[in-house]
Amino acid sequence: MSAYVKRLADYDIERLTEAVDAMFTASAFYGRIKPHMTVILKPNLVMRSAPEEAIITHPNVTAAVAICLLRQGADVLVAESGGGPYNTSIMKGTFRACSYTEAAEKYGFSLYTACKSTAVQLPEGKRCNTLTVTEPFVQPRETLVIDIAKLKTHGMMGYSGAVKNLFGVVPGLLKPELHSRYPEKEPFAEMLVDLCEYVHPDFSIIDAIDAMEGDGPTGGQKRFVGALVGSESPYEADMVGAKLIDMKPEEILVLKNAQERGLCAGKLSEIEVLGDDFENIVVHDFKRARSSSIDFTTRVPKFMQPLAKRILTPYPKINTAQCVGCGKCAESCPQHTITVREHKAHIEYSKCIHCFCCHEMCPKHVINIKRFSLFDL
Ligand code: SF4
Ligand code: SF4
Repeated sequence: MSAYVKRLADYDIERLTEAVDAMFTASAFYGRIKPHMTVILKPNLVMRSAPEEAIITHPNVTAAVAICLLRQGADVLVAESGGGPYNTSIMKGTFRACSYTEAAEKYGFSLYTACKSTAVQLPEGKRCNTLTVTEPFVQPRETLVIDIAKLKTHGMMGYSGAVKNLFGVVPGLLKPELHSRYPEKEPFAEMLVDLCEYVHPDFSIIDAIDAMEGDGPTGGQKRFVGALVGSESPYEADMVGAKLIDMKPEEILVLKNAQERGLCAGKLSEIEVLGDDFENIVVHDFKRARSSSIDFTTRVPKFMQPLAKRILTPYPKINTAQCVGCGKCAESCPQHTITVREHKAHIEYSKCIHCFCCHEMCPKHVINIKRFSLFDL
């Protein structure tokens, strides 16, 4: 397999279109497109957010992919489900707030707002054999799928790129249900790889022009990286994406799991990386999510581990003074351990599984990730 990296200084639509065209040409992807074939694009629209906040896949990246496909005679449909409830009026609002409606009208692609979903079997799943996915991603399908992720840190998984982006094919509030089924990181990562194998994207692109560092995927800071990554393998796109922010594949549980299953190269040096010299783009001081720092609890004697875990595991903390009581955190909590009383949210910590969905979905970014100060690096 190979990957492709293109340096880009901004979201200029013409330069983006040239970059995507070069990726598709280099990988012979155009050869798979037949006139009027539908190609589904799956961006990351985790919440309603303006493109410049670096939370979502920038609409110009998705539009550039659409332009290349439309020129080949394909029909292009953008489909996504964010973190809250999933219905037509909510998705129309999300597409509008993320500037996707404007881009769709301008460049001539469609947005999926029917919001239907189906329970499916994953016969090859190692951890997960059944789940529900939104209609455009149900297998078998005659369409192609292009995964268009945003490069971000992630509270629970450490890193969010091409593989993690596919969690968005699970409709809205069924996502917390999967967090409840797989509350620990390793099984959750294994389920994400099962899901990735089911969706089987035909091409994966990572928007790493403006990435998000710190407490991503929604509460971190925008950080310029200046690259667009593409690959026919979502895992290998992520291996390159991780390298751009100086993370090792072994730090990223979905990549570790995919490598153990033999789904991708074991080392970055085994991948042919075309395009620009990406070694010069690497951001060495990219800030990790605080929750994904080293797990010190495994370094104490076994009998002390439950106590150590309680003290050292990062936890969500609501800045009550700034909470507006909207209830989005409670809605996304798989453990139903958040209540809103007198317009303020409160967490009952005894049932918390540290998934940080609340942190991710708070539109005011007032849920912080806290850990014992000595480890708050
Ligand atoms: S999502 Fe944020 S602002 Fe809304 S209730 Fe929860 S903590 Fe408060
Ligand atoms: S309180 Fe937050 S971190 Fe804890 S289980 Fe609920 S959503 Fe997850």
